[in-house]
Amino acid sequence: MNSFLITPIEYLKGVGPQKADVLKKELRIFNFKDLLEYYPFRYIDRSKFNKVSELTSLHGHAQIKGKIIGFVESGMGRAKRLTAKFQDDTGMIDLVWFKGASWIKSSLKINEEILIYGRATNYKGRWNITHPEISSVNVNSSGFQPVYSSTETLNRHGLSSKGIEKIMQPLLEQLSGQIEELLPENILQEHRLLDREQAILKIHRPKTEADARNASLRLKFEELFFLQLELLVRKKITMQKSKGFVFDKVGEEFTDFYENHIPFELTGAQKRVLKEIRKDFATGHHMNRLLQGDVGSGKTLVALLSILLAIGNGFQTALIAPTEILATQHFESIKEMLAEMDVKVELLTGSVKKKARIPIHKALLSGETKILIGTHALLEDTVQFKNLGLVVIDEQHRFGVAQRAKMWKKNTIPPHILIMTATPIPRTLAMTFYGDLDVSVIDEMPPGRKDIITMHKYDASRLRMFGFMKEEIAKGRQVYIVYPLIMESETLDFNNLMDGYEAMSRSFPKPNYHVSIVHGKMKAEDKEFEMNRFVKGETQIMVATTVIEVGVNVPNASVMIIESAERFGLSQLHQLRGRVGRGAEQSYCILMTGDEIGKDSLKRMQTMVRTNDGFEISEVDLQLRGPGDLMGTQQSGLLDLKIANLAKDGHLVVLARDAAKQILSNDPTIEKEENKGIRSVLSDLLRTRPNWGRIS
Ligand code: ADP
Ligand code: MG
Repeated sequence: MNSFLITPIEYLKGVGPQKADVLKKELRIFNFKDLLEYYPFRYIDRSKFNKVSELTSLHGHAQIKGKIIGFVESGMGRAKRLTAKFQDDTGMIDLVWFKGASWIKSSLKINEEILIYGRATNYKGRWNITHPEISSVNVNSSGFQPVYSSTETLNRHGLSSKGIEKIMQPLLEQLSGQIEELLPENILQEHRLLDREQAILKIHRPKTEADARNASLRLKFEELFFLQLELLVRKKITMQKSKGFVFDKVGEEFTDFYENHIPFELTGAQKRVLKEIRKDFATGHHMNRLLQGDVGSGKTLVALLSILLAIGNGFQTALIAPTEILATQHFESIKEMLAEMDVKVELLTGSVKKKARIPIHKALLSGETKILIGTHALLEDTVQFKNLGLVVIDEQHRFGVAQRAKMWKKNTIPPHILIMTATPIPRTLAMTFYGDLDVSVIDEMPPGRKDIITMHKYDASRLRMFGFMKEEIAKGRQVYIVYPLIMESETLDFNNLMDGYEAMSRSFPKPNYHVSIVHGKMKAEDKEFEMNRFVKGETQIMVATTVIEVGVNVPNASVMIIESAERFGLSQLHQLRGRVGRGAEQSYCILMTGDEIGKDSLKRMQTMVRTNDGFEISEVDLQLRGPGDLMGTQQSGLLDLKIANLAKDGHLVVLARDAAKQILSNDPTIEKEENKGIRSVLSDLLRTRPNWGRIS
């Protein structure tokens, strides 16, 4: 790298040893480059102001010029706060701080004109802004002024947003000729991107809104481009290393099933995904494919067809489910579909007794068993295959990388892996987070499926819900009632669940009604027992915690009632709803919430009522929670982005990914002269970053 850019930050004009120290500690800014990449998070448009009198019609953020005419301190201890009376020529509002009162009071002068910015809210008829950003009005910059995020420590050392702006100036003035372009000309042209030097100048010192926008676009694109390029290259390296079995025949089993026994015509999406899998099977590389598809989209059939392909090529297969009930259901439905074919299918779960396992193990070792279905029990070392070629894992989120790795070891070359999940995540996130997996999507439901009708009801209308349950039960249907059980308030939740169970037992008394209960504190065998009573239709109502979330199939259950629904996340609500709507009957999902719920909770309920589409729901979830929460903190390394935002810049992720792919296909080893810049960044990334990007 150019030596100017790696000049230590203390050599910058205006940055003494003290400031340098704070910059290093607080912001990890060590050199000129780091400082240049400390981008502003917004701009003050010096040409646009709001008036206090406009606040009623304005939603959200306001920028007001005016002065503080007095301070009031109130409250004690943790409730202590500072209020400033702030006025312009049209009226007065309150500025409120809950912390840092004395520092703020001493740094703000009364009756001096200042500029405030923040979100205005109305509390009991008075407008106020909590923790506003404050800047002085008599700065000489016109147009757009950058705002950098700062901390109290930075502030104390003269590195408020203004302070950072000030040390940035001399750096920007020396910049000419120091910033190399990293992206090739054709990409710049195709996406109409500013050149790098211009972008860096303009992100810190835009003259217009368009300047700021173009600069940010260019830098976001670049950041996402390198992220995607790195992911693609890492994947390529892994692929080249990992040999896989070649399944190049269609085989008798597949053909026979497809021509004579398949229970229905495949949907377009199922056909497409099957094609993707067949392509993987033919490459000679190890397949690691994630199959995303909403609950009920028909993933099992795709799995079965893939299994038959493997068998037709002389291999054995395994299908792993997260619970015993699910494994049993898979076993039964697959046995039924293959009833007229000569393919040996076995079930192996934790409850298969030692003695009964002996013949199962034997038939696996001899190669006689072609499909082994089961739970984690399959992972045990005693379970040995003659020639395992494909492993299908249902419901990925219960399986860790370590468990996947165990399956790899069950043959000399790792078997192909197909992971199925009903928790869709937005495409742009999948591209980034499932770095080492290929992703297939079933985005089409089998024909004739009725959409589940979803309603949001407040606790106040509980009695009517009971009436509705009675009607449905009278028609012969079954009902789930799910309670939240969240660690922090476990005892309280548990009591709610029990109260709910008792209330149900009272309102739906024997002998006409039977109520089941399943929760996490029960022994596994008691859970299975209760669950089975419900599966067999011996009970009409199942009161449960989210333990029933995953995959259970009770086609006769047509009503899902979710209690305290405001406490569930969107994807969980969607998963729970997927427990109904599996039969021919119209199904319902009723979301019960407290009478007063927050804005985000309301949005979740409205989204559930509006759509049954898991992908649409995952997009809303992403907007509400952000990528970090959605994906769990484990992969947070991927979220260390300086300017792009995976939730908001989804379209750019796609463009950047395509551009990265294009580069790799034209110049697979990145050697061409025009890709020199790319090469230097990429080799740095591959060297310095640990191998993250693994699904778990
Ligand atoms: P999931 O994706 O949730 O695992 P399943 O594989 O259990 O979904 O399929 C849901 C239901 O849809 C099953 O009853 C299955 O038999 C049925 N199904 C699957 N594919 C089709 C199809 N192409 N046409 C009609 N019904 C189908
Ligand atoms: Mg399934």
